[in-house]
Amino acid sequence: MPVDALGDYDPNNIFARILRGEIPCRRVHETDHALAFHDINPQAPVHVLVIPKGPYRSWADFSDKASEAEIAGFVRAVGETAKLLGLEAPGYRLLANAGVNAHQEVPHLHVHVFGGKALGPMLA
Ligand code: C5P
Repeated sequence: MPVDALGDYDPNNIFARILRGEIPCRRVHETDHALAFHDINPQAPVHVLVIPKGPYRSWADFSDKASEAEIAGFVRAVGETAKLLGLEAPGYRLLANAGVNAHQEVPHLHVHVFGGKALGPMLA
């Protein structure tokens, strides 16, 4: 079910539970501000999610409320994750869904990192 990007943060959403170690994940990278792990239902040969450690529902929520250090740390972690996955040279795609129209399913900000093949043109 897609979720609304507005409203209060749900501390029991699945990514909050992954951050608390209550649910396992296949970790790729972790920093003070972010965690990267393989998507359980990959849509490309490489499909990794990068999430901030703080309680933010969407990109707008994050940019409104996160500190400069959290924002810089998260953005850096996305780039580091792409490099760690060996995607820098062949290329990759980043995607962040926000709200119902974008079919966001988990109400904790996440950036999808897709790669491992030629992805073709972007589809809206
Ligand atoms: O952007 P959206 O919210 O639609 O994507 C959520 C993503 O989280 C999906 O790609 C889904 O496969 C992934 N997921 C996951 N591990 C879970 C629950 C969802 O990797 N335990």
